[in-house]
Amino acid sequence: MTFELPPLPYALDALAPLMSEETLSYHYGKHLQAYVAGVNRLVANTPFAAMTLEKIICTSDGALFNNAAQVFNHTFFFETLRPAPNAIGTELRRTIERDFGSAEAFKAQWLQAATNLFGSGWTWLVQEADGRLAIRNYADADNPLRENVTPLLTADVWEHAYYIDYRNRRTDYLEALWQLTDWGIVEALRIKFAAA
Ligand code: MN
Repeated sequence: MTFELPPLPYALDALAPLMSEETLSYHYGKHLQAYVAGVNRLVANTPFAAMTLEKIICTSDGALFNNAAQVFNHTFFFETLRPAPNAIGTELRRTIERDFGSAEAFKAQWLQAATNLFGSGWTWLVQEADGRLAIRNYADADNPLRENVTPLLTADVWEHAYYIDYRNRRTDYLEALWQLTDWGIVEALRIKFAAA
């Protein structure tokens, strides 16, 4: 299987000024593109060439795992951002209030977890097997796919994600991401996985 750069669901300048065209041009057009090319190069003439991206992530390690996981992570990340995002809906809000106390407490925990992740990595919101929501940090390319949880949202905290627009101010970038996050898409993922 040949992997392709997934389409970006908005124009490169659509998230500006919170996320600039320059950032998206590099982050989507160069970083993600390089990970896609890396997977294709590394699976060539191996049994991995017949697998889905998710299967590769669950069964590989080293450079192939890193490139495949980064394709999944970035695709997921860009997919949940929108220029005019939907707010948190009633059902999701109820679950957030149950599991974090309030929407404000959830946002505070989310920002704190992502701010405190040391070095490069990803902060994920996941739904655990018992239906409870949880925030988890993962280093480098790692993600929750090999665990029995449903991924719902992720924040890329690699410096390449924010250094052009926010320099070292990761928390300012995370606040911008929060404003660009489409909670309708997060809720749709929850419903989709609940029905599966
Ligand atoms: Mn990135």
